[in-house]
Amino acid sequence: MKLIDVLEKLSNACGVAGREEEIRDLMKKMLEPNVDEIREDKLGNVIGIKKGKKDAPTVMLAAHMDEIGLMVKNITKEGFLQFAKIGGIDDRILIAQRIIVHTDKGPIAGIVGSKPPHILKEEEKKKVIEADDLFIDVGASDQKDAQKMGARVGDAVSFDIKFAKVGKDAVLGKAFDDRVGCAALIETMRRLPKVECTIYATGTVQEEVGLRGATIAAFQIYPDVGIALDVTVAGDTPGVKEVEAPVKMRKGPALTVADLGLITHPKVLKLFIDSAEENKIPYQLETGMRGTTDASKIALTKEGVPSGVISIPSRYIHSPASMLSLEDVENAVKLAVASIKNAPKYF
Ligand SMILES: [Zn+2]
Repeated sequence: MKLIDVLEKLSNACGVAGREEEIRDLMKKMLEPNVDEIREDKLGNVIGIKKGKKDAPTVMLAAHMDEIGLMVKNITKEGFLQFAKIGGIDDRILIAQRIIVHTDKGPIAGIVGSKPPHILKEEEKKKVIEADDLFIDVGASDQKDAQKMGARVGDAVSFDIKFAKVGKDAVLGKAFDDRVGCAALIETMRRLPKVECTIYATGTVQEEVGLRGATIAAFQIYPDVGIALDVTVAGDTPGVKEVEAPVKMRKGPALTVADLGLITHPKVLKLFIDSAEENKIPYQLETGMRGTTDASKIALTKEGVPSGVISIPSRYIHSPASMLSLEDVENAVKLAVASIKNAPKYF
């Protein structure tokens, strides 16, 4: 399967943090042909193992499977679903979104409703409507009807966005954070020949709510090197200052030097940069982002694990849909493959 098709399948699948069943099944199916062994741990992380030489370093390659979304918090007497946010969601992007409520009886379609502008007071129009003042309308006639449709407190809610190819090399879709990391992980494993390192290709759970899956996966694996494949903010859109987000789409994967939770180990950074330059792969260095990735948790496992991040620049992350360049994904895969091949020279 081509990289774009893998990304399309992963992006269209659902897996709000803590409810990763659908995406996990897909990850397992797609990883399995490219690893020697695959297992699922107690919290639902998927770990595919490709065995290398005995004394060579072990590498944990991680991408998170979960996505941001909502969770049903209350069903009103009138049959509207009030919700909590799962992961970092900006209230401004919620209004009028088409969503899917994942119930025991199957998925139901709905929309995030609010008061129509026609009846808003002037000062109300200027304000962001907070999530607590919004609700999901699934077309139920009352509370009982909503329950009959299957809705229950705790149901996961995802954005209803379908994957699309746009422009000459770009794609648009849901949850590229971090389904593009998952796609890059699968493709990296597919392209890696027999290498010296033993690789633990890990799809982690619950990253968006505090890097929880990576924490326990890294504890089991305790690798010699940790690499997270994730997305970062592409700041090449109107209104964004270069100092705020200098990374751009189509300029290659971004290598984190430091973020809120990780200062990339100098040896890992050198491994990435040398591997990129040796293979003429474009890359961008990034620092100062006010977020972090699974690599920050891998780094702090037991006695410590030298770790780093290969990020794919992505526009509009943590909104219902984002955009990225397939060329950047291709270069991220090339860099991951080259770095894993070179790792024994550095560790
Ligand atoms: Zn992410």
